Amino acid sequence: MLLRTLLVVALLALAPVVPANAAEPVDPANAARGCTGYVALTYDDGPRGADYTRPLLAALRAAGARATFFDVGARAWEEPELVRATARERHWIANHSWSHPYLTKLSASEVAKEIASTQDVLRRITGHVPTLFRPPYGDTNATVEAQARALGLEHVLWTVDTLDWSGKSTEEIVRSATGAEAGDVVLMHDGYPATVAAVPLIVRGLKDKGLCPGRILNGRAIAP
Ligand SMILES: [Zn+2]
Repeated sequence: MLLRTLLVVALLALAPVVPANAAEPVDPANAARGCTGYVALTYDDGPRGADYTRPLLAALRAAGARATFFDVGARAWEEPELVRATARERHWIANHSWSHPYLTKLSASEVAKEIASTQDVLRRITGHVPTLFRPPYGDTNATVEAQARALGLEHVLWTVDTLDWSGKSTEEIVRSATGAEAGDVVLMHDGYPATVAAVPLIVRGLKDKGLCPGRILNGRAIAP
């Protein structure tokens, strides 16, 4: 019992403080910091193991940035602690299918299973039902979109592709990401040290343009 109480106290101590104004469309604190618009930083394919996901979380924390993580269901199942850690940092956990297949090659029922099983595991781990879905490789069609919608998910792609998975340098990733304009959704991936190193430079570069990290709604970045 004592152990359990200590655990609860420890968990409460770790819980992030949610500002009272977090739900407002325009966050006065952000406005005061000079946010004239928002850009959504997104990280696909996680969790990728402690060697990658934890440094990414640390970099985002140091930069004061919240991001959207499109997690793969099977990986979340393997490493629930990393998904929980991501959620604790107030990032948005989203659905990126169970096994990262080319969904247009699957039947409608197989697509539904990929998405539904991922919803289920992410809900079990975080206690929250994801609201966003991104098809792996951006490989999609009317069937995939319909299956996502049927499960109550917004189907999200991206507007800026950093190609970070293809061996891009930190400088190249930063250049792509900081080229974003208000409302843009930037595609990056969990699993690449160059992507982690880019985090503070991206946040600073966007800030210089009056842009702050935001969340995604209707395919656009809005205030968190
Ligand atoms: Zn992916």
